[in-house]
Amino acid sequence: MKYKRLSILLITIAGLATILLVCLLILKGQSPFWDNTVYSEKYSENSDSSSKSDGDNDKVGEDNGLLVSHYIDVGQGDSVFIELPNGECMLIDAGEDRDAKAVLDCIDGLGYTYIDYLVVTHPHADHIGGMETVLNTYEIGQMFMPKTDCDTKTYESLLETVADKDMSITQAKAGVSILDEGNLTATIISPRYEYADMNNMSAVIMLSYAETSFLYMGDAETDAEYDIEYDVSCDVVKVGHHGSETSSSKKFIKRTGADYAIISVGEGNEYGHPSNDVIKLWEKHGAKVYRTDKCGTVTVQSDGNKVEIRG
Ligand SMILES: [Zn+2]
Repeated sequence: MKYKRLSILLITIAGLATILLVCLLILKGQSPFWDNTVYSEKYSENSDSSSKSDGDNDKVGEDNGLLVSHYIDVGQGDSVFIELPNGECMLIDAGEDRDAKAVLDCIDGLGYTYIDYLVVTHPHADHIGGMETVLNTYEIGQMFMPKTDCDTKTYESLLETVADKDMSITQAKAGVSILDEGNLTATIISPRYEYADMNNMSAVIMLSYAETSFLYMGDAETDAEYDIEYDVSCDVVKVGHHGSETSSSKKFIKRTGADYAIISVGEGNEYGHPSNDVIKLWEKHGAKVYRTDKCGTVTVQSDGNKVEIRG
């Protein structure tokens, strides 16, 4: 009898312990883990409000089998608008505030009113200056931006606009998938670490469509290039940091094996971009170089098999 009571007591204790363990596991499972993907807890609550399906009725993009990448001439700055073959679209950076019109003209001219994926590569004004105008003009699906401690007025003002609109920001860092639909993928492949230099914090994107791929470097410099552990072989590269010699190391150029190298740069800019040595290095390794200061907006398209420069 004594043993029976002891057994019941032990079974009861074991049962309670199991229930406690299950409760703990459930609680753990419900924790948001937002810090892996979402930049700011403050903005994360409404992340569902900007679902890409919201814009389905507004999109003009059609599933026409073409990916078209527009390297917009925004003077000294960066902005790329990409029409995806699934009918969606992506905007990477928006140039300086004064050049926002060029960005809007491109997007409006193509008939888009909804941007499915918005990427802010890093907080420098020549990439984010026009971003507030973009946010105030179009509906946005998902927004990606690296987490930095930048404290410029332009950056803080952008964050305020994002907060005002109750938008969420997904932290851009190596390994974050923007889009994954079988033969159409967009992945952020850098920054892998935290860098003191804001250029190296740039979100670097590899966009692949069937047999073709496009690499967008933002202003990433050689340190970040060196740290990228993904396959960077591509057909088209948006050259890092406006063709500056701080980027495009020989080793990295070789790794890309790119056929086309696009440099987004302003005519007669005060930084002396792009570097002639960098241009020569890309050419030496088999890339045709196109510059927005010479060509205006450069447009490249892919049908999944081959890549062509338009116009
Ligand atoms: Zn820049």
